[in-house]
Amino acid sequence: MYPDEISKNKYIGCLLGAAIGDALGKQNEGITREDILKTGCIKDYGKAKEGTPGDKLRPGDFTDDTEQMLVLARSLIDNNGMDADDFSKRMAKWGNDALKDPIRKNFIGPSSALAIERLNSGVSWKWSGSEIPSCGSAMRVAPVGLFYKDLDEIEENAVISSIPTHNSKTSIAGAVAVAIAVRCAFDEMECEDIISRTCASTSKYDMDLAEKIKFSFELRNNDPDEVFSKIGTSYLMIDTVPCAFYCFARHFKNPEHGIIEAVNAGGDTDSIACITGAMVGAFYGMDLFPERWKDGLENKALIEETAVKIFEFMKHKQITF
Ligand SMILES: [Mg+2]
Repeated sequence: MYPDEISKNKYIGCLLGAAIGDALGKQNEGITREDILKTGCIKDYGKAKEGTPGDKLRPGDFTDDTEQMLVLARSLIDNNGMDADDFSKRMAKWGNDALKDPIRKNFIGPSSALAIERLNSGVSWKWSGSEIPSCGSAMRVAPVGLFYKDLDEIEENAVISSIPTHNSKTSIAGAVAVAIAVRCAFDEMECEDIISRTCASTSKYDMDLAEKIKFSFELRNNDPDEVFSKIGTSYLMIDTVPCAFYCFARHFKNPEHGIIEAVNAGGDTDSIACITGAMVGAFYGMDLFPERWKDGLENKALIEETAVKIFEFMKHKQITF
């Protein structure tokens, strides 16, 4: 493949990986690791279990993680970069539509719901973000890691992308972590270097999150049952992001297994797998994913088209500047 083709493949891989992880992981959202192991690990699309947030979705449908990621990607594309006003308006509209939809309203997290309400009642994006330290701003942030090459710019824009909905220091730090890791993975850094560069940026916002990411990397050769119970798999940023880094690092040479590991971690499996998928897709490109995962995915063409637009923007920027 020519360098441009490799690059395009990775842009698509990153966004598709996030959506595939989300669509696979939704089947186990809110289920404990113990219960997942009792009924068997999930490796393919299917209906989410009765009583879980995505139980009315079809197999291969994704959840709010991917929807929010696409909102952010479209805002970046239409504004030639991060524009907090525009992104907040789009999030407020997206949230309003989703909350009116009987199928989609169930999977909106507490921080997003609160922020959407504030944004829709006229509160500025600077003050609308929730203080709940949940993972919503990390699960959607991958496009920021694709849209900029410079790591300082990525860090700065990941922070801005978090504030309108997730304004706690841990949520901001988590968005920074995933955006930086996506770019470092895209650049095919060694796994250890991806972790240390990610932690260097993350620690500026939340030392505890940076330490826990480092810890999850150190545990990469330990048994998943032990690690998931040690790290925790809840929807809080302090659990979700380190968990995704564990899955990524443990299966660094076998990334399809990394996604399956994340899908079956228990707890917030759609977000853990979405973040893992974005990182492995950025590193390996879209060819890594089995055809059945790509073909069965909701709105695959739209996701690909969005990634290609980011790729083309970056290519143009390289020629112009
Ligand atoms: Mg979700």
